[in-house]
Amino acid sequence: MARRNKIYEGKAKILYEGPEPGTLVQYFKDDATAYNAEKHDVIDGKGVLNNRLSEFFMTGLNGIGVPTHFIRRLNMREQLVRACEIIPLEVVVRNVAAGSMAKRLGMEEGTPLPRPIVEYHYKDDALGDPLVTEEHIAAFGWASQQDLDDMLSLALRVNDFLSGVMVAVGIRLVDFKIEIGRHYEGDFQRLIVADEISPDSCRLWDIQTGQRLDKDVFRRDLGNLSDAYTEVARRLGVMPKNASVGTKPHLIN
Ligand code: C5P
Repeated sequence: MARRNKIYEGKAKILYEGPEPGTLVQYFKDDATAYNAEKHDVIDGKGVLNNRLSEFFMTGLNGIGVPTHFIRRLNMREQLVRACEIIPLEVVVRNVAAGSMAKRLGMEEGTPLPRPIVEYHYKDDALGDPLVTEEHIAAFGWASQQDLDDMLSLALRVNDFLSGVMVAVGIRLVDFKIEIGRHYEGDFQRLIVADEISPDSCRLWDIQTGQRLDKDVFRRDLGNLSDAYTEVARRLGVMPKNASVGTKPHLIN
């Protein structure tokens, strides 16, 4: 097998050069990290679940006209995506107080918010992805005012879609993070949802019991992460019956 060109390796994914210009192969690893990689573990099958779940959400978004980087799934751990220039911001949408916002503002986790709140965090691991305002974003040239308008609109559309999909299977979408990229088509640039949408990047609570079905299970030692993600996949009908997620990572490079 030909050696592939690795473009980037992150904490949970690897990007390889794709088969055609303008494409990349996104490989999902089993690594789980939290608190800026201070906590790390390898969770058998997490990459397989996130590959499937991200495929499910991105396909749904493409279907309702929200552009994403997703083209198609290639195998258990890989998907073909459109190359884009990632805007260095983590776009967080919150429906219920939790995590860093609950802590920062002294709010009890679980308090419903009067409306969805969109936050921007500057993507910088060394700084712990600090919260920034639109003023910082515009002044430092990370995104234009038009980009900001488009990012807000994308974030809220993703929130509407994901909240609806989740409620239908008894899950509350508490918050989530997306990354947005610039995709160039000839002279035109448009913003697309990139990276991944999975229980690694969302807070998902069972509506009935409040059980955590997301990465907080790992961050806060609340149980078995793979079981939580499998439950999300099962409710959404995402994993094919009798599929095994326990296969070890098989890196081809
Ligand atoms: O930690 P915080 O409360 O700011 O996280 C908000 C949401 O963004 C959570 O759903 C979390 O999983 C997600 N997030 C992420 N990657 C980060 C930080 C937060 O996916 N680096």
